[in-house]
Amino acid sequence: MHAEIIAIGDEITSGQLLDTNTQWLSRRIEDLGIAVPYHTAVGDDLDAMTGVFRAAIGRAGVVVITGGLGPTADDLTRQALARATGCPLARKPEALDHIRAIFVRLGRRMPPSNEVQAMFPAGSRMIDNPNGTAPGIEMEIGDQGESPCRVFALPGVPAEMKEMWDASVAGALLAAGAGNGVIRHRVIKCFGGGESQVEAMLPDLIRRGRSPTVGITASQATILLRITAQGATEAACQAAMEPTVATIRRCLGPLVFGEGDDQLQDALVGPLRKSGRTLATTEWGTGGLVAQWLHAAKGAEPCYRGGLVTADRIALETALNIPRDLVDRHTAGSAEVTAAAARRCREIFQSDLALAVGPFPEPDPDASRRQVVHVALAGPEEVTVKPLRFAGHPALLQISTAKRALNFARLELGFAPEVSG
Ligand code: ATP
Repeated sequence: MHAEIIAIGDEITSGQLLDTNTQWLSRRIEDLGIAVPYHTAVGDDLDAMTGVFRAAIGRAGVVVITGGLGPTADDLTRQALARATGCPLARKPEALDHIRAIFVRLGRRMPPSNEVQAMFPAGSRMIDNPNGTAPGIEMEIGDQGESPCRVFALPGVPAEMKEMWDASVAGALLAAGAGNGVIRHRVIKCFGGGESQVEAMLPDLIRRGRSPTVGITASQATILLRITAQGATEAACQAAMEPTVATIRRCLGPLVFGEGDDQLQDALVGPLRKSGRTLATTEWGTGGLVAQWLHAAKGAEPCYRGGLVTADRIALETALNIPRDLVDRHTAGSAEVTAAAARRCREIFQSDLALAVGPFPEPDPDASRRQVVHVALAGPEEVTVKPLRFAGHPALLQISTAKRALNFARLELGFAPEVSG
């Protein structure tokens, strides 16, 4: 059995409102162990809504609708539900009492248009909405002998919808035995390879129909492997996912930098902090992103000592005291100057290590020439420099370069997670 969520409103289908209700509902439904393979958004159109409701009711064991329960002419959830199920609307006295009581509480006269919110499809029940005028609707649809489809229509106002879910709907689903244990996810995070490259390194894990399932997505140059297990308990889900996690870590080795909320800066700061070492940064092309991320990393203080952001050659020469003739001889973006910047940064901040990011190269009309941005890591004994190939969508360049710089430092320092087994 699966659940579907339907979000109602022209605001959503026209792109003016982000449908966060569906995201929230999906998580809550999965918490009950019910998979949610369909999300639908539909505008305020009676025919379109009726068609979408019919299709979902025909497929799913649970349908949750959000929005369209207001009192105005464009709030059509009630009518569409009546048409889709063949259950005509009738006034529900207790719903009308509830709406009147809300207006008394507000000290306002009830406009006649609000009476429509007391119209319910025949055979449906009212879901209490303690803080709004739109009561929810609960229906069971299905022939005898078949397991029915349970439909819940909730208001679109997020606070009301969430309160009603927690107070009424989740419990009703559990009482009806709709829950099927729990669904749990783990997200393994990798950096340094493309999606297809990472997939090719894994043994047939992304195959559909496998249990637990593994999905792969890229987000701003980070690759996310999302593992999903369904089981009777939290512990059963975790146990079912463990061998898959171990396989991923074994196959991807140092590409894996963390799990869940971990970011690359955490994968650098955590081990640095453990070994009692300090880090400083100087950057040009990344415009302060590396400094900002390190500053916000878990446990950054006292490990991260600070950073310098330069935006031109004069700043490079004066703030970092890089000799002018060195820049003249090699250019500001050269390996030599980036190495010198890392060395000087380490001295200025009196840190154990310093990471430098050079400037981005000028756009080059001759695309065949290899363009690079240099990164350098200075330690007590030596400086290591790496040219990073300058490629990718311009909107992502700063972010991906900042991540590559952090990843370079992580790998240089040998901070790849341990792989067991
Ligand atoms: P009510 O009768 O309580 O006003 P309703 O069922 O008529 O609720 P809508 O008119 O669809 O709800 O939405 C009311 C407001 O709730 C919207 O203007 C929007 O701010 C918010 N909202 C509606 N749907 C969503 C959604 N899917 N995600 C996030 N916010 C939403």
